[in-house]
Amino acid sequence: MAQHIVKCLYCGEHFNIVPEEEGITWFKPRSNRYAHVKCGQEQETKKTQEEKDFDELYQYVKKEQGDNFNFVQFKKITDAWIKDYQYTYSGMLKSLLYFYEVKGNSKAKLREGSIGIIPFCYSQAYNYYYEIYLAAQRAGTGDYKTSSVEIEIDAPVAKVLPPKLFNLDMEDEDEE
Ligand SMILES: [Zn+2]
Repeated sequence: MAQHIVKCLYCGEHFNIVPEEEGITWFKPRSNRYAHVKCGQEQETKKTQEEKDFDELYQYVKKEQGDNFNFVQFKKITDAWIKDYQYTYSGMLKSLLYFYEVKGNSKAKLREGSIGIIPFCYSQAYNYYYEIYLAAQRAGTGDYKTSSVEIEIDAPVAKVLPPKLFNLDMEDEDEE
């Protein structure tokens, strides 16, 4: 049988697809792209965590800002910081928690609709939570969450993601 060499969408490695192994070792994440099943699963896990982190940040900011919350602006600025500074949603949330809940600073600006404090306290917050993490490691609990601040935030909405890993559409006209 002729070899059909494709490039994995996620890890970039070239591999030969065997038709009867579709869904076992390889799959099509997009109609004209191929990937290892293993790489697709890793990607899915990563994405799920990121969506969860986004939701927690979003819930916190929305609760504090109420009517002043502007989703488009919020999304735009957080996306820009991720791109320009390699921030994470979880890191941005921790920055806000650190500045407002741990340090007890006034929430006036936050409530007016600004999250512009994040770049000014991101590294401090990172160090603070890293110390807590290390202390927990030393104590042998391995659970740094037990020592972090208790704050009132809405429980993130549990989202069950549809299984997007396997492409079930039937458009198969697209051989490479
Ligand atoms: Zn791969």
